[in-house]
Order: sequence, then C-alpha cells, then structure tokens
Amino acid sequence: MKATRPRLSMAALVLAGMAAFALAGHIAATRFIHDQQMRQLHELTEVVLHRSELAVDFATASLDDLAGRGLATCAPASLQAIRLHVYQRSAVKDVRLVNSDGSVICSAYSETLEFDKGWVDRADMLASRDSKLMLFRVEQFGGDALGVLRDIGDKKALVAILGINSSLFDIMPAELRAHGEVLLALKNGARLGEFALEADKALTHAIDFEKSSTRYPLRVIIRIDKSVLSTWNSQAYWPTMTVALALGVLFGILLSRARRMEGPVADLDRALTRGEFRPYFQPIFDLRTREIRGCEILARWLREDGTVVPPMNFIPLAESSGRIEAMTWQLLHQALTDLQPQLKADKDFKLSFNVVPRHILGAGFVETLRSTVAAARVSARQIMIEVTERDELDDLTRAAAVVGELRDYGFRVAIDDVGVGHSGLSRLKGLGANTIKIDKFFVDTITADASTTTIVEMLVALARDFHMTVVAEGIETEEQVRALVSCGVGEGQGYLVAAPLPFAGFCELMASQRTAAAISAQAAGAVLVA
Ligand code: C2E
Ligand code: CA
Ligand code: CA
Repeated sequence: MKATRPRLSMAALVLAGMAAFALAGHIAATRFIHDQQMRQLHELTEVVLHRSELAVDFATASLDDLAGRGLATCAPASLQAIRLHVYQRSAVKDVRLVNSDGSVICSAYSETLEFDKGWVDRADMLASRDSKLMLFRVEQFGGDALGVLRDIGDKKALVAILGINSSLFDIMPAELRAHGEVLLALKNGARLGEFALEADKALTHAIDFEKSSTRYPLRVIIRIDKSVLSTWNSQAYWPTMTVALALGVLFGILLSRARRMEGPVADLDRALTRGEFRPYFQPIFDLRTREIRGCEILARWLREDGTVVPPMNFIPLAESSGRIEAMTWQLLHQALTDLQPQLKADKDFKLSFNVVPRHILGAGFVETLRSTVAAARVSARQIMIEVTERDELDDLTRAAAVVGELRDYGFRVAIDDVGVGHSGLSRLKGLGANTIKIDKFFVDTITADASTTTIVEMLVALARDFHMTVVAEGIETEEQVRALVSCGVGEGQGYLVAAPLPFAGFCELMASQRTAAAISAQAAGAVLVA
C-alpha cells in the first residue's frame, strides 16, 4: 500500500507534466508553424514584387539604351534596330515612339497595334517615385501588358511594352498551387496579370498578403486558402510535440522527486490540517487495587490509507521542524474533548500528556494551557504535564520557574523517563515536579537484576523525600507488579492492563472496570450479609 502510493502519485505527476507540456508544445508548435507560414508568404509576395520591379528596371534600361543610340525615331533603320533589340529581350514585346501626351507615333512592330484594345492617355498613367517613368496597362487581345513610358526630351517618349508572363508568378510552392492566387496590379487597381484558379475552384476562406512597391506604382497580392495552412509546412509539429512530451515526462519525474524531498515536513503540515494526529489513551492504574486512576495521552498518526504511525516516527521531526507545539495543542484539545465527561464525573481521574522541554520553555505555554483546559471546563488539578529528562534541560532555573508557575495554577508536573536521562537525581528536586515516571528500562530488569531493585528503591525513597509520587512504565507481568509494589511504587502503566487505546477502546475498558468493581462490591456485600 505504502509503496504503491508514491508510484501512483508519481504516475499522476508524470501524466500531468505530459498534459501540460503537450498543451504548451501544441500552442508553441502551432504558433511557430503559423509564424513561419506567414513569413514565407510575405517573402513570396516580396519575390513577385521584386521580379515585377526588375522587369520595369529592365525595360527602362532598354529604353535608355535605345535613346542613347539615337533610335527614338520612326526611321525604318531605327525601327529595325529596335526590332533586333526587342527580339533579343524576351520580356519586352514591343517598343513604341509616342508623343508627349502619350499618343502613338510608330511601333517597332506596327502590326501589333491591331492587337490593342485600348491605349490610355498620359493623364491616366501613373508616375514612378522618381517621376522619370510612367506606368500603365496596355489592354491587348492576347492578354494585358504593362506599358513603361520614358520621356526623350520634351516632345517625345519611348514606351516599352512588357509581357506579364507566368514566369513572374511561378513562385508558388507545389502544395499551395491548387489553393492560392497571385495578382499583379497597378496602384489604381488596373490588373496587369495574375495566376488565378479556375472559376469553380474559387477561394472562399482566403487570407491575403499584399505588398506595394516603393519605387513603382505596382502592387502584388497573394491569396491563400486558409484550410491549406493547417497542413502546409507543418512538419515541425510532431517533432516539437515529441520533445514537449519528453520534457513533460522529465518535469513530472523531477517534480515528484522534489515533492518527495520536501515531503516529510509537508506531510506533517497536511496531517495537521486534516487532524490526522490522534490521541491514544493508556490507563495509569493503582498497582495494588488495579483501579484506573488516570491515563497518559500518546500520539498516533492515523494516515489516510489506514496505517497507524507510532510517535517515534514523527515526534522528532515535528520537534526539529517546529510543528510540535501545534501538534501538542491539537492532541490535548482532542483528548480533553473526549475525556471531559470522565474528568467531570471523577475528580480524582488524571490526564497526563507529553510536552517537549522546548515547548514548555517557549513563550505563552502556561497561558495557552490554561485557556485550553478552561475552555474544556476541566480542573487544572486533573492535568499532568510530562516532561522528559531524556534530553538535558539546559536552563534548569527557568524550567523550575515554569514548573512553579504551573503548580501555582494547580497543574501537576511529572518527570518522564527518570533514570535514563542526563539529569542527576539531585537536579530533579530542584525542578519541583509532583511525580517521577520510572522508565520501562528498570521495569524490564527489576525481576532479574538485584541492582535494579536497589535503584528503584532509591528512586522511591528520593521521591518520598521530595514529596513526589512514583509511576512505573511498561509493566507487562504480574511479577513486575509484585516487585514494584515491594519497592514502594504506587502506580503504573503497561500492557498488563492495556496498551495505548483509541478512545472507543479506552471507554470500553473503563466500562468493564466499572462492571467488575460493581460485581466485586456486590459480592463483598453478600459476604457481609452472610
Ligand atoms: P513515553 O512518554 O515514555 O511513553 C511510554 C511509551 O511506552 C509509549 O510508547 C507506550 O506505548 C509504551 N508502553 C507503555 N506500556 C508498555 C508496555 O507494557 N510494553 C511496551 N513495550 N511498551 C509500553 P509510544 O506510545 O510508542 O510513545 C513513545 C514515546 O513517544 C513516548 O514515550 C513519548 O516520549 C513520545 N510521545 C508519545 N506521544 C507524544 C506526544 O503527544 N507528545 C510528545 N512530545 N511526545 C510523545
Ligand atoms: Ca510519557
Ligand atoms: Ca517513558
């Protein structure tokens, strides 16, 4: 059970880590892929624009060359030279000489004039940024073209007619071809050329990328179907997710390790919050009559999984981590609540509880004790505070002052584990306690070892001198009871009568003792009557 719990919680943390990282990985991967797609599409738009600008630059260079060679005339020789020039440059379809208003004077290929659907006036042409060129659409039957006009002096101009061929648009990656369109237009909206889908495949949910030239009145638009973006260039998705999941596993393992490292103290805090520290009750009885005179409260940790943890497994940590005070008050409060009716019914019944020296010497101990006991409507006389002398009581003077204060309020104080601790017996006198508790160590050996009997006799004599009572711990046999009684020990506790019991068990024990007492009283009465 204990081993499966950490494994389960580790599995839960690993799963949680994977889920969190998978989510983060998914968000990061989709974001990354989306950003990459946007960047690529912007770049594609730029490529088309750049190619268009290059075509215009090329046309300009051609016109400059022709003008420089004095060919801006309609003389047959000039026209022939221009035709050769055009022939050598596939992008330029034709060159025309025009008037300053844009009207055509002559064409290198005069027959092409028949293919014109229209020819714009200079007023409808758009200037380049440096105003040296005018751009306009040439509508032709074989498809539209781009006219680039360059003034030659004040009266004339040369126009290069550029074919907007598919190479300009041939930039779409194969995956996007069936889902995208590319359009080149003038700034006034006149379309110059496009790579478009067939009418029945028209884009319904498209995203547009647009870019305008800073040098020429040109604009490029790329339109992409949104649906294709979920698959295009998404190769990075699964590698990213795999890395994210691996990181999630690693994170989960590290987290569960970290939790285990901060574990014990955090466990104590959780147990305190949940009230998992419970008082168990061990009877303290009169060694001669076996009558139960009180009980000692012993802490048990009742864990969620049903295990009962003994105090030695958590008291030292509670003490070193500063949780012992809260734990002690929680236990005392619970024990007082449970035992209140018993304490009220029998004013001689005493409740003993264990307090570490550090706690007693700490600020506010006496005050809190008084208010806790008063709130339970229990008399201070019925409360015994057990302080171990196993650990050295560093500040004996201060300890004695606190013991004195406690006694002034009516509380009783017992020195626990007497005989095995650091203090010499004479120091015990200085503390001013009411009771000494002889450690189980002496009870274990009292029947076998004569020197133990001597020590116990000494302790009893000393206690009598100091007006203290004596309780022996860990009594398991009748033989031990006899030996302790002959040494003069008055009270004891041990498995012989009962181990520490949960409250219900302790109530049953008390009830059976009352029944036994009633029967023996009846029997005694019967003997007397007889
Ligand atoms: P302790 O105060 O000396 O308590 C007596 C211990 O002896 C108890 O162990 C009790 O169960 C055990 N015992 C009693 N009779 C017999 C017996 O006949 N045979 C055997 N073998 N053992 C017997 P437990 O309950 O395990 O407590 C151990 C120690 O833990 C206690 O020693 C006490 O020092 C400490 N402790 C327990 N509860 C508390 C608490 O609430 N606060 C503090 N500060 N310490 C506590
Ligand atoms: Ca004790
Ligand atoms: Ca003890």
